[in-house]
Amino acid sequence: MKLKIIKTENLDFDYEIYDDKGQVTEMNPALRGVNLTVQKGEFLAILGHNGSGKSTLAKHFNGILTPTRGKVFVNGIDVSDEEKIYEIRQTVGMVFQNPDNQIVAAIVEEDVAFALENLGVPPEEIRERIDEAMKLVDIYKYHKHAPHRLSGGQKQRVAIAGVIAMHPKCIVLDEPTAMLDPKGRKEVMKTIKMLNGKGVTVVLITHYMEEAAQAERVVVMDKGAVIMDGTPKEIFSKVERLKEVGLDVPQVTELAYELKKEGVEIPADVLNEEECVKSLINIFK
Ligand code: ADP
Ligand code: MG
Repeated sequence: MKLKIIKTENLDFDYEIYDDKGQVTEMNPALRGVNLTVQKGEFLAILGHNGSGKSTLAKHFNGILTPTRGKVFVNGIDVSDEEKIYEIRQTVGMVFQNPDNQIVAAIVEEDVAFALENLGVPPEEIRERIDEAMKLVDIYKYHKHAPHRLSGGQKQRVAIAGVIAMHPKCIVLDEPTAMLDPKGRKEVMKTIKMLNGKGVTVVLITHYMEEAAQAERVVVMDKGAVIMDGTPKEIFSKVERLKEVGLDVPQVTELAYELKKEGVEIPADVLNEEECVKSLINIFK
């Protein structure tokens, strides 16, 4: 049986807009009727152009925001239950876009230990957990370094280590590679896939189609709603639909799409260079 780690039921969220006197003048609807289930152990990618509601949705996954209407459950716990907020935060960890905003300490290992210290975990256990987390994401060699001296990719891995040290069942990453160079992006993707391989549920919000193509399942958002949900092959074969909502497809998929339009008999769902090359070789054999 598949187990759910996150479930949203008819989730609506409105941001309240205030005037300078602190009165609510307007409501900005950011999520509309979202019904989404994340299974334990899966690697889910969420796509959508700017303003489609991805970050707002992610913030419901560990109770940073709570629904205006509808429900969100994390491991069966209602995120609106304020008494359960610590349990929710330990079940689902979040990593954000800007690594600099997530660093709180002057030394890498202190930064990784920060949340555990706040939880009152005994010092010996903190030591064990942070060493394990830093080794896992391959930043142990920098454990005495100053985080601000590290590269973007290394800093993001420090942030991931801090989350992993909490032993979460699920990690939600909101565009974690958006501010990184290609090398940093690769490092972070490798780390994410390694963690998923170890059984951690991963929700990755990204605007890189090549990253989403590596997930098991892809959800597409538009105007606060989930409009597509399927495997990367199912999603990226709908090139026209993706373009309508302001998204691209991975470059190789685009190439295959253009070739197909010109009459070349290539599958519409090639996702990586290897598949593309194989298909082309088959054609010209
Ligand atoms: P995405 O992450 O997909 O870019 P967001 O979840 O950030 O989308 O935003 C969804 C909608 O909510 C957008 O219309 C955005 O302008 C609005 N929004 C986001 N944050 C706030 C906020 N703090 N106050 C008011 N509106 C917001
Ligand atoms: Mg966002």
